[in-house]
Amino acid sequence: MTVSTRVDLALLGIRGTPPVNRTGGAGPTDDGHLLVDGLNAAIPRNENSPFVFDGDRVLYDGEDTGLQIATIARPRFYDLRTDEGVPFEKIAKLHGADVLATTVVQTCIRYGEDQRCRFCSIEESLRSGSTVAVKRPADLAAVARAAVDLDGVTQMVMTTGTSAGKDRGAKHLARCVRAVKDAVPELPVQVQCEPPGDLATITDLRDAGADAIGIHVESLDDDVRRRWMPGKSAVSLDEYRAAWAEAVRVFGRNQVSTYLLVGLGEDADEMIRGARELIDMGVYPLVVPFRPHAGTLAVDVDGAVAPPPAIVEKISREVAQHLRLVGMSGSDQRAGCAACGACSVLQNVGG
Ligand code: SF4
Repeated sequence: MTVSTRVDLALLGIRGTPPVNRTGGAGPTDDGHLLVDGLNAAIPRNENSPFVFDGDRVLYDGEDTGLQIATIARPRFYDLRTDEGVPFEKIAKLHGADVLATTVVQTCIRYGEDQRCRFCSIEESLRSGSTVAVKRPADLAAVARAAVDLDGVTQMVMTTGTSAGKDRGAKHLARCVRAVKDAVPELPVQVQCEPPGDLATITDLRDAGADAIGIHVESLDDDVRRRWMPGKSAVSLDEYRAAWAEAVRVFGRNQVSTYLLVGLGEDADEMIRGARELIDMGVYPLVVPFRPHAGTLAVDVDGAVAPPPAIVEKISREVAQHLRLVGMSGSDQRAGCAACGACSVLQNVGG
């Protein structure tokens, strides 16, 4: 498969619905999950795409693209329920072939129309009834146990909406990690949160058993941050840098990651320069193309579209080159989005 075909797939998406998919929620969503050339791939579902998933293959204009596609079966743990009758599927989802992902608090203090990140739809899946607002640690532990035993899950990602407390949601995350690690000690867990107000919280998350951490900035350009993330941009880049540095000290080099979203208007060369600085401090910058999907202000109000493929490929290639130069790779992360890689093409270009 050429890299440009993989980039086209990431941007144009597919028609059709693979058995493993997601709708609404935090971060990239509205996609179907496949293995493409053996790597996890989260492909947007787009009714206007020239690519069609026919159940086994990906076709372009009716012709087999020759892509090595493997379909991921609907996981068996989705059919189980908690003692209170909550379907496990509402507590955590399968991402890719082997990642269990959950949003432990599905609400965010920044979700007011003038504050929310314009690409985010964290509360939409709550409104549609496909998830529950707050995941209980004991329920997450039961789901994790089942997902490992029944479906061969190999790592877990826990993200959270931001709470009003000084810890910005990290304390509940720590409780959830502890419960999962007690029940499934062999399962590596990545936590994702904003820079906590008290940096000691990062040690608390590590002590609870987290193996890796994502502190996601999305853009290193303050103008872009103010435009796209009016609420979150109140957390300064200096606070992010302090949190990344502390996280590298606590979790180790290349066990810390961040998202950089391509397509928000940030200058490509500036993004590459910033990504290199992150890599040099031991932080893996997961380059992810902005994905327009309904239910976000970006699409419903702004009419935003996906970035040009050439920019996505250029940034991904140059960031991957610097990752290789310093000996960092996504697959060396113990858990998390960088380890999974499905929402990015970095692993396809050697990162
Ligand atoms: S990269 Fe992260 S959000 Fe995307 S499919 Fe993988 S675990 Fe899920």
